[in-house]
Amino acid sequence: MINAPKGTKDMLPSESYKWQAVEKAAKKIAALYNAKQIRTPVFEHAELFLRSIGDSTDIVNKEMYIFDDKGGRKMALRPEGTAGVVRAVLENNVIETLPQKLFYIEGVYRYEQPQAGRYREHHQFGAEFFGSALPCFEVELLGLAHDFLREIGFNDLLLKINSIGCNKCRAQYNAALREFLSGVHDSICGDCKRRAEVNPLRTLDCKVPSCQEIYKNAPRISDYLCDDCKAHHAAVLKGLDDIGIKYVEDKNLVRGLDYYTRTVFELCDGDMAVLGGGRYDGLCEQLGGKPTPCVGFGCGIERLIAAAEAHGVKFDNPQPKVFVAAQSDEARNTCLKIVKTLRDMGVTAECDLMGKSLKAQFKHADRQGFVYVMTIGESELSSGVYSLKNMNSGEVISVNAKDLSAIKDL
Ligand SMILES: [Zn+2]
Ligand SMILES: [Zn+2]
Repeated sequence: MINAPKGTKDMLPSESYKWQAVEKAAKKIAALYNAKQIRTPVFEHAELFLRSIGDSTDIVNKEMYIFDDKGGRKMALRPEGTAGVVRAVLENNVIETLPQKLFYIEGVYRYEQPQAGRYREHHQFGAEFFGSALPCFEVELLGLAHDFLREIGFNDLLLKINSIGCNKCRAQYNAALREFLSGVHDSICGDCKRRAEVNPLRTLDCKVPSCQEIYKNAPRISDYLCDDCKAHHAAVLKGLDDIGIKYVEDKNLVRGLDYYTRTVFELCDGDMAVLGGGRYDGLCEQLGGKPTPCVGFGCGIERLIAAAEAHGVKFDNPQPKVFVAAQSDEARNTCLKIVKTLRDMGVTAECDLMGKSLKAQFKHADRQGFVYVMTIGESELSSGVYSLKNMNSGEVISVNAKDLSAIKDL
């Protein structure tokens, strides 16, 4: 026997309805916002992620699946969704007309220590909006994120939001942060020592508790924002107020990716972020395109499902409708014809494919959750009247063989 690779999880038939419900909600809400779906390759040139996510991040340094293909090219499995979407959009000139609102549902890959809710392959619903530097762009994106989570069944998630400034004000902040970090150099972890040199903002992201304790006294980006960034942030918050999205400002929120500018946010269930993102105005240019302001978010579907179930959310699990059971071998051909007719009418139907006894067919239908079982035997064949048993109530209904469309409305 060969087992699944460590850190991966099969989506089994008993669970797939939850995934379908999440994807249905994502597609429904995205459509309401006129966002269009995009799919990009699972693997890209590794360079794409080095240049976008940043080579000072844990994702690129420790967690990315990198390999040489047979042609000697450095490839990587995508560790997040944004970079590939931006690459595709620039390459195919999708942003000739703006704005462009895109969404994706795809797997992402990180070589992490597997733990509850974290997998080496996990799936994301994400949205990336291209084209506007206005604060209403964040509000539009957060509206989509919020409506999606409400559609799933969340009513009380907490939106944490912060501004990490622009290139202009970040330079001054970085200088102040570097000075602070040099003062605590001996007390911070090895990773943070390295981050302090390459990209000091990343230190604030450190998961080591003793580092977190020290960074409570670190200078805050909010005290260094330039006037434009301050005004932008205030306008985003005002827009959220206008559409009724509740939030708290979290001054320590920085997010683990290098490309963010100004707004960063997380939608949290307790301490756990189920959706996160921000503005990334520099990324298109960084990847060789013309400067294009953007906002985006990603939402881990595995975590989302776990969090939803912890809150008692019941995902829609549609029951199959009619199982057509054969009482005799002669009846089996008629059963095939009946299920064909029912399916043509849009009714989920199945008949026995295993040569089971009538009793075993009822058992199968019950296990599969069929609402009705229609039994076809001698008397039904000669009378042309079929009876359906409601498996939930036990009630029996008669339908004429010539008018099966009555079943559609049951
Ligand atoms: Zn600024
Ligand atoms: Zn640290």
